[in-house]
Amino acid sequence: MPGHEDDYRFDTLAVRAGQVRTSEGEHSEPIFLTSSYVFSSAAEAAARFSGEQSGNIYSRFTNPTVATFEQRLAAMEGAEACVATASGMSAILSTCLALLKSGDHIVSSRSVFGTTTMLFTNYLAKLGIETSFVDLPDLSGWAAAIRPETRLLFLETPSNPLTELADIKQLSALARHHNCLLVVDNCFCTPALQQPIKLGADIVIHSATKFLDGQGRCVGGAVVGNKEIVGTEVYSFLRTAGPTMSAFNAWVFLKGLETLKLRMQAHSASALLLAHWLEQQPAVARVFYPGLESHPQYPLAREQQTGFGGLLSFELAGGQQAGWKLIDATRMISITANLGDTRTTITHPATTTHGRLTAEQRQQTGITDGLIRVAVGLEDIEDLKEDLSRGMAG
Ligand SMILES: *Cc1c(COP(=O)(O)O)cnc(C)c1O
Repeated sequence: MPGHEDDYRFDTLAVRAGQVRTSEGEHSEPIFLTSSYVFSSAAEAAARFSGEQSGNIYSRFTNPTVATFEQRLAAMEGAEACVATASGMSAILSTCLALLKSGDHIVSSRSVFGTTTMLFTNYLAKLGIETSFVDLPDLSGWAAAIRPETRLLFLETPSNPLTELADIKQLSALARHHNCLLVVDNCFCTPALQQPIKLGADIVIHSATKFLDGQGRCVGGAVVGNKEIVGTEVYSFLRTAGPTMSAFNAWVFLKGLETLKLRMQAHSASALLLAHWLEQQPAVARVFYPGLESHPQYPLAREQQTGFGGLLSFELAGGQQAGWKLIDATRMISITANLGDTRTTITHPATTTHGRLTAEQRQQTGITDGLIRVAVGLEDIEDLKEDLSRGMAG
C-alpha cells in the first residue's frame, strides 16, 4: 500500500487506505485494544518520549486502529491529516480550543446542530470567545458579521432540517480575504457526496456517529484538514485534553467507510423518490430537499454535491396536530431525532430539536408547526410511502 495510495481513486481509498498489515498477514484490519506500548530498551523509550523516534507510546496519543481510520478518512476527504475524536461534539470542541483564545470571534450559521449552538453560546462565551449567528445562504450577511478578531467561519451544508445550502467556494474566498479559517461540518453529505476541502474549506468536522458508521452503533467524530492546523495544533490539544476515539469504535467506523459511498447513493436515491412522492400528496404544503427542482438552490446542490443526501423535510398544511398524527400513525419508521442510520427516522422539529426556541424564533428560521423531518434509511421505498400515508389521510 504505502507509495501507491496517492494514485488511488475514491472507491479504492474507502476500502484500502491507511491499512498496514502486521506479520500475522491479516486481511481485515485488526483491533489494537491496548492502552500502552512497550519499548525494546531504555534508550528507545527515551527516544520515543523526546520525539526523536516516531512510534506508539500510549493510546491517548496514537493507536494503530485509530490511525488507520484517520488516514482513510483524510484520503477520502482529499486532505493531508485527520484526527479522530470521541464524538462529533469533541471534534468541534477540540478544534475551537486548539485554535482560539479569549477575545477571538466566530461567525456561525444560525442553522447548525443545536448542541453546537449551545457549545458556542454557553461554554466558549465563558472563555471570552464570542459567536455571531448569520443566515446560512446569505453571503453578504457572513461578510457583514466578520470583525478584525474573527478567526473561524462555521457551517453545515445542507442545513438540518430545511436543507438550505451555503456556497463553500464563495465562503472560502471570503474566509481567505479576512484571514479566517472556514470550518464545514460535513455530517450530512460525507466525503462520498461532498468534499469541502477540495472546494476551499480549511477544516472538515465529522460526527462519525451518523453516516460514517451508518448503522447506529458507536459515537465518534473527526477533524480533517492540513498537517499544520489539524495534524499538529488540533492533534496536540487532543493528546493533552484526551477526548480520543477508542480503538474498537475506530474499527467499526473503518468498516462503515468501506460501504459509505454505496450507502450514501442508496440513501440519496430513496430520499429523492420520497421527495417527489411527497410533493404530490394533497396533505403536504411544501417539500424541502436539495434534489428537487423546486429547491431554490438546486443548481448549487448539483454543482457542489455529487448526490443530494438522505435528509428531507416537509410541511403539512394541518400544523402540529397533523404532524403528530402522521408520526403516531407510523408503524415502522423510528420516532427518534438520530439520523444516518439504515433505519428511517422521523421527528417533529418544532416540539423536539427546536423546542427550546421561542415561537417567534421558530417562525423566523422557518421551523413551522407542521414541519416534519425524515432521515431516509435503506428500507424498501414502498414500505416507507405506506408508513407515511397512514396518518396523512382525512
Ligand atoms: C450529531 C451531530 C453532531 C454531534 O455529533 P456527536 O457524535 O453526537 O457528538 C455535530 N454536528 C452534526 C451536524 C450532527 O448531526
